[in-house]
Amino acid sequence: MEHLQAELKGNVLTSDHDSGEAYTTALRRNSDLSTLPAKFIVQPTVYEDIPLVIAYATSHTPPLEIAVKGGGAHSSTWASSDGGIVIDLSKLNKVTLADDQKSISVQGGALWGDVYEVTSKAQVDVVGSPLWFVGVGGFTLGGGYGPLSGEYGLAADNMLSATVVLANGQIVKTSNTEEPDLFWAIRGGGGQFGIVVEFVFKTHPYAGPFASGIIAYPGTEFTNVLNIIREWKTTQTPAERLTVTFSRPAPHSKPSIALLPGALHDTDGARSKTVFAPFRNGNGSVKPVFEKIVTVPDMLTVSHGADASFAHAPRRLAIRGTFFSDFFPELLTAVWEKWVAFTESSEDVRSSGVLWDLTSPEKLVQVSPTEMALRVREPHYWMAVQGRSTTDASVPAAKEFTESTARLVREKNAELSGRDLGWFVNMCQGDENPEDVFGENLPRLRKIKAKYDPKNIWSKGLAIEPLFE
Ligand SMILES: Cc1cc2nc3c(=O)[nH]c(=O)nc-3n(C[C@H](O)[C@H](O)[C@H](O)COP(=O)(O)OP(=O)(O)OC[C@H]3O[C@@H](n4cnc5c(N)ncnc54)[C@H](O)[C@@H]3O)c2cc1C
Repeated sequence: MEHLQAELKGNVLTSDHDSGEAYTTALRRNSDLSTLPAKFIVQPTVYEDIPLVIAYATSHTPPLEIAVKGGGAHSSTWASSDGGIVIDLSKLNKVTLADDQKSISVQGGALWGDVYEVTSKAQVDVVGSPLWFVGVGGFTLGGGYGPLSGEYGLAADNMLSATVVLANGQIVKTSNTEEPDLFWAIRGGGGQFGIVVEFVFKTHPYAGPFASGIIAYPGTEFTNVLNIIREWKTTQTPAERLTVTFSRPAPHSKPSIALLPGALHDTDGARSKTVFAPFRNGNGSVKPVFEKIVTVPDMLTVSHGADASFAHAPRRLAIRGTFFSDFFPELLTAVWEKWVAFTESSEDVRSSGVLWDLTSPEKLVQVSPTEMALRVREPHYWMAVQGRSTTDASVPAAKEFTESTARLVREKNAELSGRDLGWFVNMCQGDENPEDVFGENLPRLRKIKAKYDPKNIWSKGLAIEPLFE
């Protein structure tokens, strides 16, 4: 290990007294359930550090496991290793806007907050996460649905090129014209093909000011609120977004349905005032117990506001989620009843929540299902179940709740729509059948895996078996 450290520009952290505190900090993930005790954590500062780490890990018999950490937001243990090496990309987080401002280059360990620091100053926009702390790496490799997706599609749809460190240590550029198979695979195929050390994204003209807020109703008004949403959906444009959440706010912890409205181009607050009026006045049938919509200048502010909402949530978090085809009130009602019963069952899991993202799918359906690894291109939305527990003892119950609820959504959606949309890689835990994630794109992904990672060095994540021809 000393030999490795001597060769690297970046640092190697271990649990010993030399790097103890830095090591503990670097192990930390968004969820405590995602943390594992790595043997070494390497924090590369130049791309050339990474091939040296791969060579070191593979020189062992058997090879040391390698995990790659981007932002550390994924709720699985994919970015952590028990006894292996973590390549922590956090020092590779530089963001550079092109001189013509039409594209932006983002290093693989940057957070969306790092990107918004730059885009907000320059008054351009990019498709990214609504949350400051989510990593650009994991988010984009799994597709990436964000506030601008209604107008501009997914983060993966906006990737122009990337620089990737391959399993054999080579550092390659990839785009539609360079290593095109690799480029196809990393747009939705996850982190199974190499370490993306640099992404280049298309930028868009300033999409602000942005409306962002919360409108909350008591759970007793659940059916009325669904009726308002159903009517509102018929007039929604790609510039408007609604996230429907099930939560139990303090101090009473009673079931509540809270809507998180968002809008682009909200000049002087005019758009949000009109568009979200039915939720404020309840179409005469229901009034919110709380409502606040603000108009802010940039995505940096939006993303900080969203992060703040998680600040006091329990840190034992398990997430699963999936796609759904349309706003089916029966589907939301089935999940509401399950969620109310589960969060009633024990105080330990009362912070568990459910989130339904209703961003317009208008743009993302314009891409064909085989244009890149992310194949779900018919009209759809995504949802997430967040199982939060305050004690270790309640973790299994919260995990079971997330798993069975995501399954319920997938099955009920298939029943209601006649379409089985499978699983969404960014919300997977790793025990899913890859065929249910990648469908008809799986055979091509397996061949690309055989070409770029024949020995399965990138073994963490949603396993894609190499297929040798
Ligand atoms: C609170 C919350 C809200 C979310 N909201 C959204 C949302 O609105 N839309 C959406 O699409 N997703 C959302 N997600 C899911 C999120 O996009 C995924 O969890 C994503 O994987 C996080 O990326 P990360 O880099 O922070 O994760 P990490 O935990 O660091 O990594 C996740 C996976 O990606 C791999 N990886 C990360 N960076 C790289 C890289 N540079 N090269 C190769 N592999 C890499 C890791 O090895 C790991 O397998 C949300 C997650 C949370 C926790």
